[in-house]
Amino acid sequence: MVIIILLGLCSLPEIFHENKGISESIGSVRDGKLKNGWLLPYKGKNHRYFSPFSYYILNNGYVHSSVYATIMEAYHTCETTCPDILFRIMECTSKHGGRMLIHWTHQNGTSVDFMVPTMKGDNRNLMINKIGMFHYLLKFNEQGKYALGRKTVIDFETMARHIIALDDAAQHHGLKIRKILLNTNLHDELFSTPSGKLLAQRNLRFIPHLNNLINAVHDDHYHVDFEFIGEEE
Ligand SMILES: [Zn+2]
Repeated sequence: MVIIILLGLCSLPEIFHENKGISESIGSVRDGKLKNGWLLPYKGKNHRYFSPFSYYILNNGYVHSSVYATIMEAYHTCETTCPDILFRIMECTSKHGGRMLIHWTHQNGTSVDFMVPTMKGDNRNLMINKIGMFHYLLKFNEQGKYALGRKTVIDFETMARHIIALDDAAQHHGLKIRKILLNTNLHDELFSTPSGKLLAQRNLRFIPHLNNLINAVHDDHYHVDFEFIGEEE
């Protein structure tokens, strides 16, 4: 009973949160804060947040208001470019920014993790998308095949379309993509699809060399950092 009450209290910020005004990202993704963060919706027409624990208990579904507008516009575009695909957002930033449990960055509302879209034949309604925080532990091989079921593969074409939509939307909201972290062994697969070829022409900053640990953990999701146009490093 006490636990239920405590969990309920932890969820209050999200239950009563109202997005209004403009956010402020202070400092960097490694050492920063978020003021007046906007909370992404838990459910949208073609997107979901991936974990109730992350969303309601850890309070990690917040971003800068311009990042919010970018993500929402990109999903709206994807309703047309990727019909029938349900996207999932993974961890963003905690309500007030700062240090988070499993991330070195994500501190100021400009970092977002996106779950890799997957498919098993025609089936996209896969259990591996519904395991919450454990999704971060999934392993995919160098061809994007799921380690525990090789018929489950990353849908690189959909991923490319989503990143293109994010890049377009960012520009409409005063932002640009600062960098993308995706396991470097998967870059070839991503850039070889039809939309991946178009994506490659955009010369977005996919970090080409990552240390072993960082590389290993970016196979189940792609991490995107945004920055404000005019404030590039
Ligand atoms: Zn990340």
